[in-house]
Amino acid sequence: MAAVETLFHRQQTDDRWMNTAACKGLTHLFFPPPAERPQARERREAMAKSVCASCAVNRTCREFARTNHEYGFWGGESEDERHEAGFRLIAPIGVRARDAV
Ligand code: SF4
Repeated sequence: MAAVETLFHRQQTDDRWMNTAACKGLTHLFFPPPAERPQARERREAMAKSVCASCAVNRTCREFARTNHEYGFWGGESEDERHEAGFRLIAPIGVRARDAV
C-alpha cells in the first residue's frame, strides 16, 4: 500500500489521553537507540516501567499499543511482553521474527 493510501485509510483515533502522559520529554527511555546491548535495554526498560507505574493513562496506553502493534515501551509493557501476550509486531525482527512463522 502506498504511503498516500495508508494515510487515506488510517483510522482516526482519539489520542487526547496522550496529553496527560507521564513520559513527555522522556522518549530516550521508551525507544531503543541503535545497537542497544541487552543489559542496557534492561536498565532502560526498568526506568520506563517505573515512569509508567505512576502514569494516569497506563491502561489506555497499553491497549493503544497492543491494538496498533506499536514498537517501543508503552503502558508498562515492552515489545517482548506485548509479543508474549499475543500482540505481535507487524514486522518483527530477531527472536520474535523466528516465532512469527
Ligand atoms: S503508560 Fe507509560 S508509555 Fe504510556 S503514556 Fe504513560 S508513561 Fe507514557
